[in-house]
Amino acid sequence: MILSTHAVVGGAIASLVPSNPVLAAVTGFASHFAIDAIPHWDYPLPPISISKGADNRSLRSNGALIIDLTSIGVDACAGVALAIWLFATPASASVIALGATAAIVPDPLQFVHSVYPQEPLVRLQRFHEWIHAKRKLAWKLGVSSQVAFEAAVTVFASAMR
Ligand SMILES: [Zn+2]
Repeated sequence: MILSTHAVVGGAIASLVPSNPVLAAVTGFASHFAIDAIPHWDYPLPPISISKGADNRSLRSNGALIIDLTSIGVDACAGVALAIWLFATPASASVIALGATAAIVPDPLQFVHSVYPQEPLVRLQRFHEWIHAKRKLAWKLGVSSQVAFEAAVTVFASAMR
């Protein structure tokens, strides 16, 4: 899933446990793997590889890499902002941001694994690859299904609070 979808799900879960930051972070982190198992679409990142056997140690700074990093940054920041906007109260904003960020973290950890393939990242990467849906959706269905999924999660979390 794209990072903003992960952030919305992490924020939604955190909104159910607004006084427990540790639980919000742990469940947000775990939610990443659960929803990656659903067939989905991810935007392409040509210079950065996080696929099996990826090695980004020889990654060079160029225009394509800057576009990738900008896409990732906008996606992550928009997701955390959206999660705060959807779920936060003044008292719970930091826990919502924590849950949303924790839900994003497994993807940057894939990159860290590609440049530093050591434990516990090796095990985590193996698990991430194993649970990640093997079926990729075309972008039109992929985008619309993630928007619908985010809306459903928002309605569900609001009903549960
Ligand atoms: Zn992932």
